[in-house]
Amino acid sequence: MDFAFDARTEELRAKLLAFMDEYVYPAEAVAEEQRALLASPWDTPAVVEELKAEARRQGLWNLFLPDAEYGAGLTNLQYAPLAEITGRSPQLAPTALNCAAPDTGNMEVLTQFGDEQQKKQWLAPLLAGEIRSAFAMTEPEVASSDATNITTHIERASDGTDDYVVTGRKWYISGAMNPDCKIFIVMGKTDPDGADIRRQQSMILVPRDTPGVTVERAMRVFGYEDHSHGGHAEVIFDHARVPASNLIGEEGGGFAIAQARLGPGRIHHCMRLIGMAERAIELMCRRAVSRDAFGKALAQQGVVHNWIADARVTVEQLRLLVLKTAWLMDTVGNRGAHAEIQAIKIATPRAVVDIIDRAIQLHGAGGVSQDFPLAELYAGARTLMIADGPDEVHQRSLARRELKKYL
Ligand SMILES: Cc1cc2nc3c(=O)[nH]c(=O)nc-3n(C[C@H](O)[C@H](O)[C@H](O)COP(=O)(O)OP(=O)(O)OC[C@H]3O[C@@H](n4cnc5c(N)ncnc54)[C@H](O)[C@@H]3O)c2cc1C
Repeated sequence: MDFAFDARTEELRAKLLAFMDEYVYPAEAVAEEQRALLASPWDTPAVVEELKAEARRQGLWNLFLPDAEYGAGLTNLQYAPLAEITGRSPQLAPTALNCAAPDTGNMEVLTQFGDEQQKKQWLAPLLAGEIRSAFAMTEPEVASSDATNITTHIERASDGTDDYVVTGRKWYISGAMNPDCKIFIVMGKTDPDGADIRRQQSMILVPRDTPGVTVERAMRVFGYEDHSHGGHAEVIFDHARVPASNLIGEEGGGFAIAQARLGPGRIHHCMRLIGMAERAIELMCRRAVSRDAFGKALAQQGVVHNWIADARVTVEQLRLLVLKTAWLMDTVGNRGAHAEIQAIKIATPRAVVDIIDRAIQLHGAGGVSQDFPLAELYAGARTLMIADGPDEVHQRSLARRELKKYL
């Protein structure tokens, strides 16, 4: 077993680490200052566009996309350590590299399932970082962790035109508050009474400016609006009419597309989470050696040693499991790596939440303040125990797979 990164990964890692030091970390405070002066807090601060231009110039662009025709053509194993580095500054770095969710998943869907017109109209500007996008599945009225519950209708127009009419209410639609978000991929039912509950759903492209689409309000995360991610919006589709050619793939294919979309999305989240944990450990260590309490540095307290050591052990374990999963996705495909994808999605957010929590504790009041990124990292990591499938849903599926061997 060879644990070394290959030459291309090493080269990109070195480049990306330098980009983070030179451009991304210094831009964190600048982005906050600029956002406070914007006409709307949902607009993109100028420094973000500057970061994007520089990343693109340096070839640090669309690294997430394994398809070399459209993206960098990296394997999951090559991308994993790079995504981890971007996770150290999750508000800025993924966007700077055009590797931010939900655009990444949406671009993958369009690459794999979009037709030529859809690719030209929506994939091309997304790949160029000119627009943003959102993925609209979750609904406030139903338990959406079970996608078969979705109630949004995608119906053929009754007036004989070649249109679909989309009606439903969605929430926690990430990115949708940002005015640059021009397109929604909407999951709804084209055949709500169909016998096969996994063939009732379809996915359709709904441009933001379609009459009947209302971005109603920003949903909060722990009471705060998540400006840097373009918010998480409640969106109403009230008889929003789009051409039939906006359907992605075939009628009834929505469930399968959602499954295909979520595999890479989940591992990307886990990679970035490990970077978030590394940032928390770094902050924890820097604080511990620079602050005294009761006559000695915090770093000399045994309990702090335990926190730091446990965090290091946990991160090393998580990284190995994530890299193994990435390798499996590359070698046996996303389906073959299904159990491992579930395992990392269960293991990573909760462990990283724990590490960030300790780092917050070590910082005292500073830990929950706006002067350190820890509170924001915590909120981001905690929501990943819910988003992209709550832990319990993955546990259910993993346990059933395990039990099957004995039935
Ligand atoms: C910050 C954030 C961003 C998000 N971004 C998006 C987005 O861009 N697009 C989008 O469509 N959605 C998004 N979501 C929504 C997210 O994917 C859903 O919240 C998630 O799938 C759970 O659905 P639900 O909220 O309806 O919870 P429910 O389905 O009502 O589940 C509630 C709880 O029930 C428990 N539960 C469910 N099933 C089981 C089971 N089988 N066994 C045991 N317990 C169970 C779990 O603890 C679960 O958390 C986002 C959510 C957050 C918090």
